[in-house]
Amino acid sequence: MLRTQLAPYKYNFASSSSPLAYLSRYHSSLLVVQRPRVSDFSYKPSASLLHRNHSTMAPPSILIVGCGVAGPILATFLLLSPLPASEKPRITILERSSGPRIQGQGVDIRGAGLTIIRKLGLESTIRAVTTKEEGAMFVDASNRVWAAFGADRSGKVETGTADVEIMRGRLVDIGYRKSKAVSDEIQREGGAGIEYVFGDSADSIEQDDQRVHVRFSKSQETRTFDFVVGADGLHSKTRKLVFGEAADGDRVKRLEMYSAFFSMPSGPTDSTYNR
Ligand SMILES: Cc1cc2nc3c(=O)[nH]c(=O)nc-3n(C[C@H](O)[C@H](O)[C@H](O)COP(=O)(O)OP(=O)(O)OC[C@H]3O[C@@H](n4cnc5c(N)ncnc54)[C@H](O)[C@@H]3O)c2cc1C
Repeated sequence: MLRTQLAPYKYNFASSSSPLAYLSRYHSSLLVVQRPRVSDFSYKPSASLLHRNHSTMAPPSILIVGCGVAGPILATFLLLSPLPASEKPRITILERSSGPRIQGQGVDIRGAGLTIIRKLGLESTIRAVTTKEEGAMFVDASNRVWAAFGADRSGKVETGTADVEIMRGRLVDIGYRKSKAVSDEIQREGGAGIEYVFGDSADSIEQDDQRVHVRFSKSQETRTFDFVVGADGLHSKTRKLVFGEAADGDRVKRLEMYSAFFSMPSGPTDSTYNR
């Protein structure tokens, strides 16, 4: 089973003490999401950090590219800032698929990932639908166990399987639903909430002194935002559009190893350990 340390948000502007501090300080800039440090999440969204676009006095508009794990969760965080609904950011989530992609196998939630689900009040929802895997074993063709290790429950040791392991699709679905619920509530209170645009992507991103101009590939419409966040996965097109295709080789180190994962029914020798 392929595992990921589920810690999807790290703002790649090292000087920023938190994502929202970054938003506040560099109001009209591009920002790209990568993996986080736990310290990035030791903040509470504060009203002063997400203030209005000073040129228009409108709430800041934020484009998040990707409706996977990171996109909707970031949108939810931003919308939970304690501003009046009408002053909360206007968020657009742009996803190239026709809906949230609920495919994938098990992902392990550890470290910053646990902090995030706790802050969003999602821990019990997620724990209720984890795979319940208690560990992993290496076996041979006769099912003889050569090595076994249990899931880490301390949060301190990184073993091959984590206490909170969930199928990726469930996690995406939970994050998406949470973002929709928060957005619906804000819209009822008069705020903009989240606009979800499915089946389209960005093919050009240009930044001027004030704002970021993004051309959508399918509609060919150019829309303007205060911030753009790339949450479009490991091979992020947003990152390539902003930093250039050539520089991407420095960011993603290819190991030239490939693996395929799939689901299959449990067999008679299966247990709560994966093998
Ligand atoms: C279908 C799928 C299955 C996966 N299965 C596993 C797994 O089994 N185990 C594991 O450890 N990791 C898996 N991953 C990777 C894992 O989800 C991510 O590495 C991790 O969760 C980081 O989350 P993320 O939100 O940054 O990216 P992702 O979860 O990868 O989400 C990125 C989203 O952006 C969308 N997107 C991509 N490019 C564009 C574009 N140009 N414009 C608009 N939208 C775009 C994608 O359709 C996707 O919905 C999978 C990813 C995907 C997309």
